[in-house]
Amino acid sequence: MSSLRRSTRALIALFALGWTLVLAAADRDYGLAPVRIADDTWVLVGRSEDFSFANGGNIVNTAFIVTSAGVVVIDSGPSRSYGEQLKRAIARITDKPVSLVLNTHHHPDHFLGNQAFAIETLAALPATIKGIHSEGGSFNENMYRLAGDWMAGTEPVAPARQLAPGPLTMGNHRLDLIALDGHTEADLVIFDRSTGVLFAGDLVFNGRTPTTPHANLQRWQAALDQLAEAPFTTLVPGHGPLADNTKPIRQTRAWLAWLDRHLRQAAEDGLDMTEVLALPIPAEFRDLAVVDAEYRRSVGQLYPAYEQRALSAERRKP
Ligand SMILES: [Zn+2]
Repeated sequence: MSSLRRSTRALIALFALGWTLVLAAADRDYGLAPVRIADDTWVLVGRSEDFSFANGGNIVNTAFIVTSAGVVVIDSGPSRSYGEQLKRAIARITDKPVSLVLNTHHHPDHFLGNQAFAIETLAALPATIKGIHSEGGSFNENMYRLAGDWMAGTEPVAPARQLAPGPLTMGNHRLDLIALDGHTEADLVIFDRSTGVLFAGDLVFNGRTPTTPHANLQRWQAALDQLAEAPFTTLVPGHGPLADNTKPIRQTRAWLAWLDRHLRQAAEDGLDMTEVLALPIPAEFRDLAVVDAEYRRSVGQLYPAYEQRALSAERRKP
């Protein structure tokens, strides 16, 4: 075979492979089906799972409100493709443009869909924007490892517009932007006074074990105490099903309080990390989704600081 024919064949093969990859990527359908939960208000409920190739990273709840001043999107999902599919799902419901996209915090499943929306519509609390700038790249790489070609073409895009907490009127909807923290350094909660819907972001997990890579357990519990007082009719957690009561708030708080007590006690008893990992999880939490995996991750993320504190307390003793 002549070298010309060989290279032609190679080109054809490459071309075919390229198309296979394009088709495979185009196949990835999140099957987003917005559910109407209140006037003008839709949510897209993700799976109560870990990130995986099977779910394409869709473990998160996103939402949108169709106001007379345009659509307000709350969190943009785990990938460029999710953001694009969310935009198309919105366009099937309304012809109003998306005028505001709020990222509740800087975790990848809440902002990696930003790329699908106009940059001037993206907004978040200042510390969230900072977090996306500093950690967005490594979150994105990690998502490629976990979800594969669902992530095709995804790049982290940080909002330029900084939000200040307080009232925000969007056409016929009066929103309260509430700046809390504890799950991360900045956790935005949105309360729609016009409908009574409270979008709690990842301060509240329902039926799923909370994630803690940037957690401050004390501050998080204080934030939950504040949320429990909000006069909401519907609660949209960051993960897990919706609720019309404070049970998910109490459940999240109970897990965090237990984790805090448990890790402190283990550190005071001088246990090493392997021993802490082997300790049983109380029966009341056994039904939470991904409880074993999240317990392991939380011990890895949080226990060194508890050991450090126990050691310095020991040294201060006379
Ligand atoms: Zn999160």
